[in-house]
Amino acid sequence: MSGEVKHILFVEDEVKAADIITRYLLKAGYSVDTTHTGEGVIESVRESEPDLILLDIMLPEVDGITICRKIRSFSDVPIILLTARVDELDRILGFDTGADDYICKPVNPREILARVKAALRRSGPSLPKSRTILEFDDSRLLATYKGQRLDLTLKEFQLLKMLHSGDGKIFTREQIRKKIYGTSRGNNSRTVDAAIKKLRDKISSVVEGESPIRSVYGAGYSFELPESSI
Ligand code: CA
Repeated sequence: MSGEVKHILFVEDEVKAADIITRYLLKAGYSVDTTHTGEGVIESVRESEPDLILLDIMLPEVDGITICRKIRSFSDVPIILLTARVDELDRILGFDTGADDYICKPVNPREILARVKAALRRSGPSLPKSRTILEFDDSRLLATYKGQRLDLTLKEFQLLKMLHSGDGKIFTREQIRKKIYGTSRGNNSRTVDAAIKKLRDKISSVVEGESPIRSVYGAGYSFELPESSI
């Protein structure tokens, strides 16, 4: 992180959990403004212009998704939604919330910190995007990862390109299956899992230990470079 202190707005009605995470983020050097209600959040975003918002979905007055959409109507600030359960995440991934990332509860402060850093990195103007690390040549169906050629099948090429286009966004198995493999019988979520595994093996075989494809338990996959490689 640069010398400038990043300001996080944290909206979470569970006070105890909020306290733990707030302390963790403060210790990591962020300035954190924590609130336990959805009321007044929009105004506070307009006024304080935070660098990132951590937003719980289940809030007593206004739900996090509604708040998230409202914020999106006037700001591109990175928003990470906190969801209570994996099945809730599955459901909300189906509609356009405008959020940058999702974290399932129970949350691990370390994971939150990693995702906050990643979201801030993506939103930062001067930092290199993952795009330069992975390159695609459509005319030759050729993909290179850190300059190393990946030996991919057509489907693997398309799959990698799809994940990469999301720039950290999570794609569900269903979205991947429909887009890459079609809806014919015999293609199911296991087809996707198997293809992801092969793709991961191919990437880590050209650059040892690299694993830019992240799986989000119960939800799907995203492409995100490990911090050390940027
Ligand atoms: Ca809650």
